Amino acid sequence: MLAWFKQRLRALMFLTVFIGGLSYGSYTAALHPNLTTWEREGLLIRNVPVEEKVVALTFDDGPDPVSTPVLLEILGKHQAQATFFVLGERAQKYPQIILQMTSSGHEVANHSYTHSDFNKLNKEQIREEIRQTNRIIAQLSGQTPVLFRPPGGFLSCEMVDLVAGEGMLVAYWTWQQDSKDWRRGKPATAIASHIVANIQPGQIIIMHDAGENGLQTAKAVDILLSQLQQDGYRFVTMGELIRLGGSH
Ligand SMILES: [Zn+2]
Repeated sequence: MLAWFKQRLRALMFLTVFIGGLSYGSYTAALHPNLTTWEREGLLIRNVPVEEKVVALTFDDGPDPVSTPVLLEILGKHQAQATFFVLGERAQKYPQIILQMTSSGHEVANHSYTHSDFNKLNKEQIREEIRQTNRIIAQLSGQTPVLFRPPGGFLSCEMVDLVAGEGMLVAYWTWQQDSKDWRRGKPATAIASHIVANIQPGQIIIMHDAGENGLQTAKAVDILLSQLQQDGYRFVTMGELIRLGGSH
């Protein structure tokens, strides 16, 4: 999986950096200096080069006993697939929600065990956060995740190497698709319009199904799916998006 991705990214690298650099100068200033190298080497992913109108919705920090079931119902209503970056300790607490995700065709991925500040953890502790969560998800779903999204978007050379050593990919997101949906009081309409206004094929859209604004996020998904499906967009898991990118 990584080899083709490496090739694809190498080919599109210049264009992405050039256009991205011009349009999103304010974002690129905050990036880790190695980010584009990791992308080129197939260690980290932020979007996928596809020609069709297909994107991946991703939800972090769950499962949440209130908002995640609401979100799953909305996704089901629109027949859209998504990827859930769950916390190991929450997956343990709410195993039925994990089963509901996998039986509905969604992808369950790894967002660490406790959502600790990785700046304060050593290499062994970070490895254990990842492994423990993979074990829990594998026990519940029968599938070991290949995607890891570090809590708070933490990045370091050591962590990226470690994730690769676990046979996993650092699953980042498309910068222009961070609607900050988790912010208190952010209404569903504002979250949805941010995503609709910035939509492009191949994007990895970050949202949060847990936290105090989780129900607004779920409502936003209802709005944006109605609008974007009408515009011809399909919503697939990150794994499927990566496969589609590799088939060109
Ligand atoms: Zn998170």
